[in-house]
Amino acid sequence: MMEHLTRELETLGFQARIVSARRLADLGCALDEQRGQGLFDEAFFQDELTGFGFTLPENVPETGSLVVMGFPDPNVRFTFTRCGESIPVTVPATYLHVQEKDKRAEQALTALLAPEGYSVVEARVPKKLLAVRSGLARYGRNNVTYAGGMGSFYRLVAYFSDLPCESDEWGEPRALERCEDCLACVRACPTGAIDPARFLLRAERCITFWNEQPKEVPFPEWLDRSWHNCLVGCLHCQRVCPESREVNDFCETGGEFSDEETGLLLEGRKAGDLPSDLVEKLERADLLAALDTFPRNLGVLLKQPRS
Ligand code: SF4
Ligand code: SF4
Repeated sequence: MMEHLTRELETLGFQARIVSARRLADLGCALDEQRGQGLFDEAFFQDELTGFGFTLPENVPETGSLVVMGFPDPNVRFTFTRCGESIPVTVPATYLHVQEKDKRAEQALTALLAPEGYSVVEARVPKKLLAVRSGLARYGRNNVTYAGGMGSFYRLVAYFSDLPCESDEWGEPRALERCEDCLACVRACPTGAIDPARFLLRAERCITFWNEQPKEVPFPEWLDRSWHNCLVGCLHCQRVCPESREVNDFCETGGEFSDEETGLLLEGRKAGDLPSDLVEKLERADLLAALDTFPRNLGVLLKQPRS
């Protein structure tokens, strides 16, 4: 059944690995261990790594399964306009329309398991770690994960199921072989967040950490304005990675925002104070949740000198 399920998911566009539900405890221990070793900045840990659950759902026995699935997810390029100039602005993979995408993944898994009498429950686990330990993905030096054929432009989801798991693959976290003699991301990272001497990123130096902060948090002084390259997130290290070469152009076109609309967004107005057609456009683009960070995140991109 496990093999059949993995194959069926693959035909639907999902790469999947199935491990024992008991691996949940290993994931919790690994996170504690890394924190104990001081590998996480505390602010980063509190922001990013405290929302997990390491208790099995009631209807999932220890003999059940933990299913991790990855599927291609494109970057999205929007166009904003300033003083008549069209300025492309990218939102990297995994930020937009995530609920719909995750729902489709859950529905696909449920459609395969429910007829066999098995349930599917969302798993709030460290998915990158699960993907790497189950063999679905490998870490890059930049701590981004890469999965076969999709480079780093894919999204991960994870689910528990009472589907029995008799055997699984579970290894130590592994880096890409090509990282051994490559430093492209280290050189491309403007902030020095990627330390070739240690496995984990210096997350508090990463642009993503800062532009994902609430609007009240200003960018630190050391973060040079010219380093910003996305509305949220950062793609410097992924764009140069040879592992993603084949999929580097995997990008969809988002909406266009006129000079007037861009100006309103930079003013930091709330949705209720914006024209309804602009709110609809933001909703369609799934940018409404980012509205309050536009003055900071978009502002810094639009103020960059252009060539
Ligand atoms: S750019 Fe090179 S070192 Fe960095 S993750 Fe990619 S292969 Fe590894
Ligand atoms: S996302 Fe940007 S800041 Fe973070 S490690 Fe990569 S290049 Fe550096």
